Amino acid sequence: MTRLLFREDAYAKRCTATVTGISDRGVELDQTVFYATSGGQTGDTGTLSRPDGTVLPVITTVKDRETGRILHIIGDDHPLPEIGESLSAELDWENRHKLMRFHTCMHLLCAVIDGDVTGGNIAAHKARLDFNLPDAALDKDEITQKLNELIARNADVYDGEITVAELKANPELVRTMSVQPPMDGGAIRTITIEGIDFQPCGGTHVRKTGEIGKVAVSKIEKKGRQNRRINVVFADQDQPTTT
Ligand SMILES: [Zn+2]
Repeated sequence: MTRLLFREDAYAKRCTATVTGISDRGVELDQTVFYATSGGQTGDTGTLSRPDGTVLPVITTVKDRETGRILHIIGDDHPLPEIGESLSAELDWENRHKLMRFHTCMHLLCAVIDGDVTGGNIAAHKARLDFNLPDAALDKDEITQKLNELIARNADVYDGEITVAELKANPELVRTMSVQPPMDGGAIRTITIEGIDFQPCGGTHVRKTGEIGKVAVSKIEKKGRQNRRINVVFADQDQPTTT
């Protein structure tokens, strides 16, 4: 199994690693700073550098559905490294930091909106959560204001652990109906945003809510009879023309 360095330190940008497996275009490492697509958060991009100086682009990082192995997907037209080879793995930090900021902001959105989360997606230019809210009248500007108030509080964000038994005794802690928290090793990782939110989560977060920066709810969509999709962007970013 790959050691997940991003769980220990979300700010780790690079590491050395040894290739332990190759699967199609995917490279498995003994340890990594790359987060694999899961829980709606996009997998990391970056590079793997070989001892001879060759740089292999990692176009995304995925988790193999069957085996759970983390695979760094190397772009076409690039050679694959060999098993046993020692590499330097480095994140596209600018991209990952946006994902961390948005991800942390989605925890704040959970605190602002009182409803079960039915889905979500976090990309570098936009993040969204879907809530099961059949009758709610949601106001874009009001949610924007509440989010920015929580961001301005600059609350601490930190991780902890609860046992599987503790979680089973408190099922309301899981806000996301569609995604189960990671249950490796009998302990479940939790994320606390001081005074705002507490839930199981295996993702990457910023240390203080102030680091998220100003955000805006770009639109609220009705998805079916029950679901409301709330889309969030960074207030200072150039808006993409497509969604
Ligand atoms: Zn999280």
